[in-house]
Amino acid sequence: MTNTLTRLLQTRDWLLADGATGTNLFNMGLSSGEPPELWNVDHPDRIAKLYSFAVDAGSDLFLTNSFGGNASRLKLHNAQGRVRELNRVAAEIGREVADKAGRPVAVCGSVGPTGDIFAPMGTLTHELAVEMFHEQAEGLKEGGADVLWVETISAPEEFKAAAEAAKLAGMDWCGTMSFDTAGRTMMGVTSAQLASLVEKLPNPPLAFGANCGVGAADLMRTIMGFVSSGTERPIIAKGNAGIPKYHDGHIHYDGTPALMGDYACLARDAGATIIGGCCGTMPEHLKAMHEALSTRERGPRPTLEDVTEKLGAFSSNTDGTGDDPGPSRERRGRRRG
Ligand SMILES: [Zn+2]
Repeated sequence: MTNTLTRLLQTRDWLLADGATGTNLFNMGLSSGEPPELWNVDHPDRIAKLYSFAVDAGSDLFLTNSFGGNASRLKLHNAQGRVRELNRVAAEIGREVADKAGRPVAVCGSVGPTGDIFAPMGTLTHELAVEMFHEQAEGLKEGGADVLWVETISAPEEFKAAAEAAKLAGMDWCGTMSFDTAGRTMMGVTSAQLASLVEKLPNPPLAFGANCGVGAADLMRTIMGFVSSGTERPIIAKGNAGIPKYHDGHIHYDGTPALMGDYACLARDAGATIIGGCCGTMPEHLKAMHEALSTRERGPRPTLEDVTEKLGAFSSNTDGTGDDPGPSRERRGRRRG
């Protein structure tokens, strides 16, 4: 028995993922500090609408509203006893929307970080992390999620714990890290290190990659890092719609739909298979990405110069890989070109 995502990956050479969860929910009235997962039960119509944004824009998969649905995060709102319920309902609403789409759409059960730091710096242990992720995974499975989608991870320990939880739940999974610190994750992981970590897992993901981070340009550089690692696993690119800017007391992302259309095609040309957006990516961005991917021919592998020309400058000089990143990056750029 295979899941919808596996079948899609077997038959298609690119898949459109979804956009932002937070940005779109804030636009529907979620206040900052309010846990979005409670809306699964309190405002199921709004969550169905969030999922429909993606489906109606042409997405082949979307993530459930369960990013912070682990016991540790929900505890901040005294809802740690509702992990199973909130995740189950997140997936149930997703199942309903996906099954009405009239084409195969995968429901991907979002699993975000616990928010805790691993020992010895913090209190989190491998066993605790596995237990929390497993509890969440069982809820998502019960609600009908096709796969688990582990995202915005920065610590390799947490990535491994989530992989083990997926195994305990008997679910296929995908996993992405957020490379937001000069090309590395907050805990120092580079694109090359994630590519190698993934292959060492006892149950590797169906696909892996990067989400969120800084802007679309930085994310592209990370994707190019995965590709140059030689991985044969499908790569996920979920970049933010530009750079966050404070404006009138709220965060606004400066990426236009046209920029995100360019980004989507650059990601595909660079070798990504599953392409979507993260923070700031609204329905109009997704529509532009779908249009661009459906109508534009594949192009040659982009160089770093192609990326900055279309998407803007990188936030740092290097992507954090290599001892002498300047020249080695240049060599790789030529090989790719
Ligand atoms: Zn994001």
